[in-house]
Formats: sequence, C-alpha cells, structure tokens
Amino acid sequence: MEMNTPLEGRELKDDIIRFCKQRDADIVGFASVERWDDFDEVPPAFRPRAIFPPARTVIVFGMSMPLPVVETTPSALHKEIYNTTNRQLDNLVMELTRHLNRMGHASFPFTRDTYTSMRALKEANIAAFGHAPAAKYAGLGTIGVSHCLLTPEFGPRVRFASVFTAADIPADALQPKELCIKCGLCASLCPKSAIKDREDQVIGDYDKKACLEMHEELVARRANPCGICTKVCPIGKDRLLYKSKNSRRKYLEEKEKLDINQEDPSYQSWSHIRRYGVAHKPR
Ligand code: SF4
Ligand code: SF4
Repeated sequence: MEMNTPLEGRELKDDIIRFCKQRDADIVGFASVERWDDFDEVPPAFRPRAIFPPARTVIVFGMSMPLPVVETTPSALHKEIYNTTNRQLDNLVMELTRHLNRMGHASFPFTRDTYTSMRALKEANIAAFGHAPAAKYAGLGTIGVSHCLLTPEFGPRVRFASVFTAADIPADALQPKELCIKCGLCASLCPKSAIKDREDQVIGDYDKKACLEMHEELVARRANPCGICTKVCPIGKDRLLYKSKNSRRKYLEEKEKLDINQEDPSYQSWSHIRRYGVAHKPR
C-alpha cells in the first residue's frame, strides 16, 4: 500500500475537511466516540466502539439535496437525485477510508445505507448504524420532531455518511440550541400520520412501520423515497437561496388544490415533473 504523509490532530482535521470538500461534501463534522456514551441515546451494540473497537473519532459528512427537486416528491427526478447523492456519499466514504489507512490511521467506512430492502429494515426495525445521531454528536445539527437531523445550512435536506477512525481528532462543538421550531408541518403533512408532536420533548413519536409502508408503496412505483417531512421543514439557509422562506401555505394547500385541479398553476412545475417517468397505474 502506498503511504500518504502521516498527519495528526489539527493538521489531520484540516486535511480531512479539505479532502471531503474537494469531493463535494457540503458539511463535515467530527465526534469523539465518547459522545455516544455521554448522550446514552443509542443502544450499546450500535455505538462506534462496539462496531470497530479501535475507533476514537467519527467523521460525518453531508451532501445537500436541492430544495426544488425535493419539493417534487414523489417523482423520478427526486428518486434519481436521492440515489445519486447516496452514491456520491458512498464513494467518499471509501476514498476517505483509504486516504486515512494510507496515513496509518486504521479506519472503517459506514456507507449511507446498510440494508438491502425495506423488508429487511422493517424486520430489524433499526439500521446497523445511525448517521443522524452521529451528525448531531459531530455538531452538524439537531434532531427535530420528524426524527430527521436538521442542519442550519439545509434543514433536513442533506444526506450523511460516516467514517470511523482510530485517529484522535479534535471534536467539533455541539449545536448551541435546538434548530427545530416545532412548527408541526412535518406531522400534519405526513401522508401516513407517522409523526406525532410531543409536549415534553422536541423529538416526536415516530411510527416507523407506517413510514416504511409508505416507502414500500413508493418502491412499487419506483418513486421512493417519500421525504415529505424533509420537503416541508422550514429550517435551512437553502430556503434563502431558493427564495422559498414563505412556503407554509403552499405546502398546506397543495393536496386540496391539486385534488380540485391537477393543472393548478401554483403547482405547475411540481405536477409536470411528477407526471413523467413514474408509473401511476398498478401493473
Ligand atoms: S418520510 Fe413520509 S411517511 Fe415517512 S415520516 Fe416523513 S412524511 Fe411521513
Ligand atoms: S417541520 Fe417544523 S416541527 Fe417538523 S422538524 Fe421541521 S421545524 Fe421541526
């Protein structure tokens, strides 16, 4: 194996950030493995040290999903952008793992998804490793009512992958406050009523089975994932870029207006993209 110049500490951190950003990561964060024990939210067998005992640091990176495409869900375009983002993340996971291994820092890649089907996920009811808590412990965001990781930059419209490494790298500070404003849009617009707001905590109750059923229906039409909770969340500076700060009413009225008139001009671009490339009739 050809070796890279070995770096440590702050120098290594800067090198990893540069490496990830040059390969299209929008955000990068670092968590010490102790954070899983400090928060005590994730079952012990699902923590980095249980999976890869030499792990000292978890590097989490995110790639954004463009808001106007997420707004077309369910659509062929949304599915393609989702899959492409996942592939880019998986490529980066492998490239970074090899880069760190060549420096002598034993590393372990965790791809975006670690299940082969919705049925497999439904049977286990949990993935082998959760990138959302990892991103929270790496200071990239906080978990909202919808159980999505919300970031200041893109709200929940960002996907994550992680690399565990034996290198000791300075951890990032946690987000100073909860980003979720408990607006209730994700809960009220979920097509399966899978999200329920709670008075006593930020994170809502989440009926994973109902959510997975929605995904199965969309897989059958090849128009997965659902992602309506991701689309409607008002958090994220991406809404400034796309001049979409005041979309609440548009989202709330969408179903009613399109039920009356499929050609409603306010939703013309979303309807156009949904109309093509996805089977609407059962086989
Ligand atoms: S992905 Fe869809 S079905 Fe699942 S919780 Fe979000 S809005 Fe509901
Ligand atoms: S849609 Fe509103 S309630 Fe749901 S996660 Fe986003 S900010 Fe929180």
